[in-house]
Amino acid sequence: MSHTRRGLPITSSSIEKIFPKLTPDQISRIEAHGHIRAVQSGEVLVEQGDTSVPFFVVITGELEIVRPFGSHETLVTVHSSGQFTGEVNTLSGRKSFFRVRSSKPGKVIELKHQQMLTLVQTDAELGSILMRAFILRRVELIAAGVGDIVLIGSTHSAGTLRIKEFLMRNGHPYSYIDLERDPDVQNMLDSFQISVNKIPVLICRGQVVLRNPSNQQIADCLGFNDSIDQTQVRDLVVIGAGPSGLAAAVYGASEGLDVLVLETSSPGGQAGSSSRIENYLGFPTGISGQELAARAYLQAQKFGAEILITKATRLICDHKPYVIEVEGGGRISARTVVIATGAQYRKLPLENLSRFEGTGVYYGATFVEAQLCGGEEVIVVGGGNSAGQAGVFLAQTTKRVHMLVRSNSLAESMSRYLIRRIENSPTIVLRPQTEIVALEGGDHLDSVYWRNNAIGHTEKHEISHVFIMTGADPNTDWLNGCMTLDPKGFIKTGPDLSSENLSSVGWPILRQPYLLETSLPGVFAVGDVRGGSVKRVASAVGEGSIAISFVHEVLKE
Ligand SMILES: Cc1cc2nc3c(=O)[nH]c(=O)nc-3n(C[C@H](O)[C@H](O)[C@H](O)COP(=O)(O)OP(=O)(O)OC[C@H]3O[C@@H](n4cnc5c(N)ncnc54)[C@H](O)[C@@H]3O)c2cc1C
Repeated sequence: MSHTRRGLPITSSSIEKIFPKLTPDQISRIEAHGHIRAVQSGEVLVEQGDTSVPFFVVITGELEIVRPFGSHETLVTVHSSGQFTGEVNTLSGRKSFFRVRSSKPGKVIELKHQQMLTLVQTDAELGSILMRAFILRRVELIAAGVGDIVLIGSTHSAGTLRIKEFLMRNGHPYSYIDLERDPDVQNMLDSFQISVNKIPVLICRGQVVLRNPSNQQIADCLGFNDSIDQTQVRDLVVIGAGPSGLAAAVYGASEGLDVLVLETSSPGGQAGSSSRIENYLGFPTGISGQELAARAYLQAQKFGAEILITKATRLICDHKPYVIEVEGGGRISARTVVIATGAQYRKLPLENLSRFEGTGVYYGATFVEAQLCGGEEVIVVGGGNSAGQAGVFLAQTTKRVHMLVRSNSLAESMSRYLIRRIENSPTIVLRPQTEIVALEGGDHLDSVYWRNNAIGHTEKHEISHVFIMTGADPNTDWLNGCMTLDPKGFIKTGPDLSSENLSSVGWPILRQPYLLETSLPGVFAVGDVRGGSVKRVASAVGEGSIAISFVHEVLKE
């Protein structure tokens, strides 16, 4: 780290990649996309909360990046000659975390948001310098907990865990104050007239105070959706931003389609909750689901795909363009649709399960959950690959992992490499033919009863963390009867649609459905939501990209 640099400390040693100095040739290539303008000392070029903000390169003078919070300001960094502004939100067009102010008179190159997008798409060298800097800056902001929001919560609250996951999986930096650990927090709450029983509380930009907000409320408050025009008819609307939806977005947008993605929570889907994906091509040492999702999300944005954080609640398919109704009543029109809504975790039939969801019962094993149960005993329920991965991952930081499976062995349901690791781990105890029959606790799960079905014996164990990894059901309840589903509710596509299926829904055109096309022309289904799909990241990504070639065909019809 350079000792002359002003601003927040940097955790990474690659400061020249975080704040690169551009060469005269690079600067003149950027200038060709925008214009040079003079700036005065004290002039504010971007205000915190502005959307689709311009991008600046300093020619002479200095630009200060500051974070206003209430009446205070924190200096984040200072850009001097040859350096440029921006981080991930500059690319997505979302609200700026920071104020950009000129601290000396000088000259800058200004590119409007769209001009900056064109630059990163057309100039490979500058595109990679900018993208790398934006990502590394975001990583530094997350590490420093510097964003435009403060979360006040407790490790005993399910709402806190949900909000932390939502922010983390959306890559949004935030400061966290734990009520149990920070005695001064009451003063902070008092200043916003909030009683302690109202947590978790989220404070946006020091102004708006939300009490246990829904994901949609957080997205609205942070302006995730502000820069997106919801009225235009899109070439393609992708529903779901798991691996299959993100792949469709990347391929669609990179091939010139106007793509809007709707995602109810955060990009990554089920894969985003995986601690380490080891069988995805090109990542020999594995990659966390979250990192894979974050990269794909950025890649989609780089090519101009837009992502709206909202839930699709109904498909209206009796006329074209098709209309997707979203939470809150909005309506989005689309010439073609890719359904990539995947599947959601199956729950255990336990009466009080929902009481402990997020406070002892979890459906994903990521870094966030692992922190909650370090050094303790945990239970992982399930015999598939996701359960195996969770077990192996948790074994690194917990005292003991009890793996409960209903069948006799793992051989039929789990990959061989995971079975070997489980067998070789001294921390994992495999408990075949065993299932949870009851949960007990107060604010948090305290004890679990499990029954060994081979001998009919039930035992109580004082274990407060259960990871349920027992498979998933398709997210198709919002489809409004628009297309043919299989008996389990997955969407039938292409050659799986029989002539009876097609005649019963009145397939209206001469050609047969394309591969991955549903019984509704121009509507495709990809990934885990599709009947007969292979439930893997690679196949989801493959299907998302293949669907785009047929989307082009439909758009020509
Ligand atoms: C813990 C875990 C570990 C795994 N590990 C591996 C692995 O190592 N290797 C491997 O190959 N596979 C793995 N898998 C399987 C893999 O993650 C899935 O096959 C893959 O994620 C499927 O991708 P998808 O895009 O089809 O659906 P999903 O990943 O399910 O994504 C669907 C998305 O759609 C969104 N959505 C749903 N309904 C709506 C709606 N109405 N409106 C808007 N958005 C909506 C969801 O929020 C979600 O983000 C794992 C799965 C889990 C759960």
